[in-house]
Amino acid sequence: METPNKIALIIEDIESNMKLLKAILELKGYSVLNASEGVVGWNSARKHCPDIILLDMQLPDVSGLTVARMLKGHETLKAIPIVAVTAFAQDTDQERVLNSGCDAYVSKPITVSSFMQTVETLVGSEKHLSN
Ligand code: MN
Repeated sequence: METPNKIALIIEDIESNMKLLKAILELKGYSVLNASEGVVGWNSARKHCPDIILLDMQLPDVSGLTVARMLKGHETLKAIPIVAVTAFAQDTDQERVLNSGCDAYVSKPITVSSFMQTVETLVGSEKHLSN
């Protein structure tokens, strides 16, 4: 019996960034969903209950921080690990991001190997309920 692919949801409004993340995750065997706005991403998360969420902090409708708080305030979705993907580089920003409930933080431009290590560590930790 084949194991179904893990599902990654990318919430990112810049198409080139989204395509890069998508390509890396697909190469690693993930099924990828994507949304270019925060609320669309939130709805997709509720519908598909992904294994991991890659969340841009600067979105056109609501901030990534808001999306993270919405997800972490939800009874079941709060178990999904969130990786914040952001151009912010200052320590204070990192603190704000982690305080919003994000489980990890990667800065753009991303490094492929460290990005995937972060993803695999969070998905592999199985702290979320398995499907
Ligand atoms: Mn953005």
